[in-house]
Amino acid sequence: MTSHSDPPVRLAWFRQDLRVHDNTALHRACEDRAAGVIAVFIATPRQWQQHDMAPIRQRFLLRNVDHLQRALADLNIPLLFREIDDYDGVPGLLQDLVQQFGINDIYANREYGWNEKQRDRAVTQQVAKLGCTVHLFHDQPMLAPGLVTQTGKPYTVYTPFKKRWLENWRAQRPSLQPAPAIREHPVAAASDPVPLPKEEFEDKLWPAGEKVALQRLQGFCKERIEDYKRDRDMPSLNGTSVISPWLAAGVLSARTCLQQALGANRGRLSGGQEGIDCWISELIWRDFYIHILDCFPLVSKNRAFKRETESVAWRDDEKDFAAWCSGRTGIPIVDAAMRQLVQTGWMHNRLRMVVAMFLSKQLLLDWRLGERFFMQHLIDGHLASNNGGWQWAASTGTDAAPYFRIFNPLTQSQRFDPDGVFIRRYVPELAAVQGKDIHLPAPLVRAGLAPDYPLPIVDLKFGRERALEAFAAAKRRDEP
Ligand SMILES: Cc1cc2nc3c(=O)[nH]c(=O)nc-3n(C[C@H](O)[C@H](O)[C@H](O)COP(=O)(O)OP(=O)(O)OC[C@H]3O[C@@H](n4cnc5c(N)ncnc54)[C@H](O)[C@@H]3O)c2cc1C
Repeated sequence: MTSHSDPPVRLAWFRQDLRVHDNTALHRACEDRAAGVIAVFIATPRQWQQHDMAPIRQRFLLRNVDHLQRALADLNIPLLFREIDDYDGVPGLLQDLVQQFGINDIYANREYGWNEKQRDRAVTQQVAKLGCTVHLFHDQPMLAPGLVTQTGKPYTVYTPFKKRWLENWRAQRPSLQPAPAIREHPVAAASDPVPLPKEEFEDKLWPAGEKVALQRLQGFCKERIEDYKRDRDMPSLNGTSVISPWLAAGVLSARTCLQQALGANRGRLSGGQEGIDCWISELIWRDFYIHILDCFPLVSKNRAFKRETESVAWRDDEKDFAAWCSGRTGIPIVDAAMRQLVQTGWMHNRLRMVVAMFLSKQLLLDWRLGERFFMQHLIDGHLASNNGGWQWAASTGTDAAPYFRIFNPLTQSQRFDPDGVFIRRYVPELAAVQGKDIHLPAPLVRAGLAPDYPLPIVDLKFGRERALEAFAAAKRRDEP
């Protein structure tokens, strides 16, 4: 234990914020130059599994923890790696560290899921018994949830949220925090080795570390952001930033993304180049969903945001769900998208909307099944954005698509993949199909010309009518 004359010891507890640059908790932990600083990352495999964290995402986190450990070592900050089953064990584990190293303060960035909030509460109480204080910071969104409100109440519609968000940002203009300086008095603790998975394709497709993440972001802002509005809906193009895995793991801060976009936009937050304006708007959507998650805990408890949609009579059809999961629905754009997800851990945003709408509307299967399957496969799985996206598509969420505005996957396919370039990339059974038949090859399948490809599992017109009726019935049930 430390004596009164020893310098204070601080613990930076890393969670989904695996970076040294612009990291509020780390920055604050290092403010006192005389303090000793150590860091910890706690892997919780059973909890991750309970939260449906995709194995590819778990491996991505570990690879980034390894990079972080090296970056922190350069600053003379040892990173301890600990593993425990689930959040229940975290307070005890941190209590042991507090005792072992004489830690006075713990610094961490807030997480907004219900279980994470409960975990942080339990830790705060437990270590307080030893005189240790937990300091939590809003760092994941660009602006803290409490800042963007409508006379103290959270916004539930995006457009006014964005308007207020822009006003607040202009008033505050938060600056980025640099990486901390090298500690002159390191704490004597050895960094533990991080158990590293060996998956070469993932290393190549999704390389770890802040440096590579920043290079990707800068490359996008230099070369492609101006065309974002034009290209972002075309899955065959490299039209979006594909920065979400690093953002979700906190290897980059959203503020850094915004700063790079502002640099490309001559400092203008809005009203500048239209592609850049549009991209900034997407970053603000992310903030919107984080604020919703923070203010409405029911969305992290498997509940619909709109109460009246709780009684939609979702179908129970394992066969249709399995066809959707495995990319065998007979609707090529849906199948190509689902295979992209399973094979790479990522899916284009336009396609996320298309497949989510198809599952929850034409198939009338519970959106929670799809939300879960996404989490189980996405490298960028992010509770707030995933739940927000699913509830938007299923018309159960805040500012969601109205239930009668149902995407027709065929029209979406013709519009956003007109030549079937994306479809052919992921559905080799259709490689030989020429021209517009690629969008709905059922007649060819029936004629034996694409024998390995399934017939559609649902008639799109019938599926649409069935969904409209199910939502209308739920609405009637809810009326007094
Ligand atoms: C059903 C569904 C599920 C989704 N699940 C997730 C998820 O688990 N994790 C996730 O990060 N995003 C999710 N999204 C949002 C969006 O699809 C992805 O953020 C985007 O495809 C990531 O690609 P990108 O980095 O190239 O995005 P870009 O188009 O380059 O946008 C830049 C960043 O803005 C944010 N962003 C963009 N669109 C959205 C949006 N609609 N909502 C919230 N943030 C957005 C992301 O952080 C993204 O990385 C989901 C959307 C839908 C419709």
